[in-house]
Amino acid sequence: MRVLVTGGAGFIGSALVRHLVLEKGYDVLNVDVLTYAGNLASLRSVEDKPNYRFLRADISDAGAMARAFSDFAPTRVMHLAAESHVDRSITGAADFVQTNVLGTFTLLETARAHWLALDEDARDAFRFLHVSTDEVYGSLGAEGLFREETPYDPSSPYSASKAASDHLAKAWHRTYGLPVVVSNCSNNYGPYHFPEKLIPLTILNALAGQKLPVYGKGENVRDWLFVDDHVRALDLIAERGRLGETYNVGGRNERRNIEVVERICAVLDQLVPAERPRRELIEFVSDRPGHDARYAIDATRLETELGWRAREDFDSGIEKTVAWYLENEWWWGPLRQSYAGERLGLVSPQA
Ligand code: NAD
Repeated sequence: MRVLVTGGAGFIGSALVRHLVLEKGYDVLNVDVLTYAGNLASLRSVEDKPNYRFLRADISDAGAMARAFSDFAPTRVMHLAAESHVDRSITGAADFVQTNVLGTFTLLETARAHWLALDEDARDAFRFLHVSTDEVYGSLGAEGLFREETPYDPSSPYSASKAASDHLAKAWHRTYGLPVVVSNCSNNYGPYHFPEKLIPLTILNALAGQKLPVYGKGENVRDWLFVDDHVRALDLIAERGRLGETYNVGGRNERRNIEVVERICAVLDQLVPAERPRRELIEFVSDRPGHDARYAIDATRLETELGWRAREDFDSGIEKTVAWYLENEWWWGPLRQSYAGERLGLVSPQA
C-alpha cells in the first residue's frame, strides 16, 4: 500500500502518518507545505523510517502535485491539508478559499489523471479519502444529531470552504467516477494539537497561571473525539467505506465549552497543585460572530457498517492529553514562544 497523505505535518495528519507508518507498515508520502500549523517535530518518530517520505509542496501547485503522483504512484490518497482554524478564517478568509477549495480541486484533478492512467486492477483498488468536518452542517439546537443526510448549512468562512471542498469531492465521484469517500468528523483533541485551539490553549495558559478565555458564557456544545480514534476511523473508511458516500465520525462525547475548561483545570490541579484552583483563571470574552451553538454527530453508519467504536471516553482522553503536554514541553515550548506576541494565538479560545 502506498498512501499519499496531504497535511501530514498537522495535528490529525501527523497522528495518521504515525499510525500508517509505524502500525500499518504502509509506504507513506507526506505532502505538506508547512504553514504555521505544520510541524515536522510531530513526525520525529517516523522521520528515519524507510517507508516514510516527506515532500514540501502546496496542494494548489498543479505541477508539483503531478510530479508527486508520478514519482510516488500512490494506491490511496488521504487528503487532510487545509486551513483549519475558524477564528483565522474570520479575520482572513483568502487562504481558506485558496487551500480548501482550489487546493482540493487541484488535488482531485491530479488524482483523476493518475487514476485514469492506471491499469484496470489498480484503478479498481484506488481510493481517495476526503477528510472534512461536521461544521459543514451548521448549528444544532438542544436536540438532534448531524446525520449523513443533514443538509449543509455552514456558518463560518472555514466551514463554507470545507463544504465547497466536500461538494467538489462528491462531484468528482458522480461526474468522473473517481473512487472518492468523504468523512465528516467532530472536534478532535489529543497530543500534538497546535496551542491556539481550545484544549491545548487552556492547558498551557492554566499551567502558566494565565487567563483562560472562554467565548460568551461557555455554553456552546461540541462533540469531542480523541485524535487516535479519528485516525482509526479514517483508516477504516479509506479501506472499506462505500464509494461516493459520507461517513460521520464522532465520539458521543458532548460537552459545553465551560465543562471542558473546568475539567482541564481539575486534572491539572491534581497533577500539578497550585496555590489557587485554576478555574479562577477563567475569563468570559465576547462571543465569536456566527458562533454555532451545538454540534453533535450520529456515527451509526460508521459503527454498523465498519464496526468502529470510539475507544477513549472524554475523561480518560483529557487526562492523557494533559499528561502529554506536561511531559512534552520540547514540542510545544517553541510554538508558544513563536507566537507569544500574536494576539490571535493568546486570546483565541475556541477549537
Ligand atoms: P492542522 O491545521 O493542524 O493541519 C493542517 C496541515 O495542512 C498543516 O500541516 C499545514 O501545513 C498543511 N497545509 C495547509 N495548507 C496547505 C497547502 N496549501 N498545501 C499543503 N499543505 C497545506 O489541521 P488538522 O486539525 O490536523 O485538520 C486536518 C483536516 O481534518 C482538515 O482538513 C480539517 O478540516 C479536518 N478536520 C479537523 C478537525 C479538528 O478538530 N481539528 C475535525 C474534523 C475535521
